[in-house]
Amino acid sequence: MSLGGIEAGGTHWNCVLSPDGEEIDRVESFPTTTAAETIARAIEFFAGVPDLEALGVGSFGPVEVRRDSPRWGTITTTPKPGWRDTDVVGPLAEALAVPITLDTDVNVAAIGEWRRGAARGLGTFAYVTVGTGIGGGVFAEGRPLHGLLHPEVGHIRVPHDRERDPFEGSCPFHGDCLEGLASGTALRRRWGRPAEELADPAAWDLEAEYLALGLSNLVLVLAAERIVLGGGVGRAPGLIPRVRTRLREILAGYIDRPQLTTDLDAYLVPPALGHRSGLVGAIELASRAREPR
Ligand code: ZN
Repeated sequence: MSLGGIEAGGTHWNCVLSPDGEEIDRVESFPTTTAAETIARAIEFFAGVPDLEALGVGSFGPVEVRRDSPRWGTITTTPKPGWRDTDVVGPLAEALAVPITLDTDVNVAAIGEWRRGAARGLGTFAYVTVGTGIGGGVFAEGRPLHGLLHPEVGHIRVPHDRERDPFEGSCPFHGDCLEGLASGTALRRRWGRPAEELADPAAWDLEAEYLALGLSNLVLVLAAERIVLGGGVGRAPGLIPRVRTRLREILAGYIDRPQLTTDLDAYLVPPALGHRSGLVGAIELASRAREPR
């Protein structure tokens, strides 16, 4: 039997197979083009797997994650052209006829890190990815957090000192939300070059400032036991240590736990699974899909 997973990202989709829920033995990646074409490629990949037992899907969002909603599995208010109100799960379920479980791409990456990575054994933590956009998966008391929707960590507000940083922000919905100020897109627009070509220490101090402000809100609201920080920008050399320093200063010793006063090296950490968090998480979701309800 095979378990399948899809990391349905805004720029690439990765389809993955596992024979046993542990090993990953095949991955196919393709760019996210039109909704119809991209979903059809995923169907084509899994249709060639005769013993496919269940599928786990981690989708970019916002996506309807409430199982009892008639729109379950539909990408809703995305600014991505052509993808608004796209039913992702419906065509997959119809074509493949296997049980499907779905969550956000970032919740699925969090599941991967919880299952086999940097968040093993924790009940409450956040996984934050800083790339083209900013997203965050949240585990609360041992399960991915869902409510009215799912957490939208990228769009929380942080103080924006317009004298230090006159950039108006890049979020099409909010301007200077966290994603609007600190995503890869924001860095490129503010500084006129992509993050990987950005060497100015002042630019990285500002980036660390925004991320530390955003993460301090997660610490305070979620009582997170750890924060995993990944993504293309999140991996920038030296960024995590800068964010740790500012996070400690911002929290100012108020939360009297060694994790937030002396042991931040173990509190704010990169993903242990690197690029594979979402793949591992998608397979874990698939293994849950096949379990009897
Ligand atoms: Zn926003």
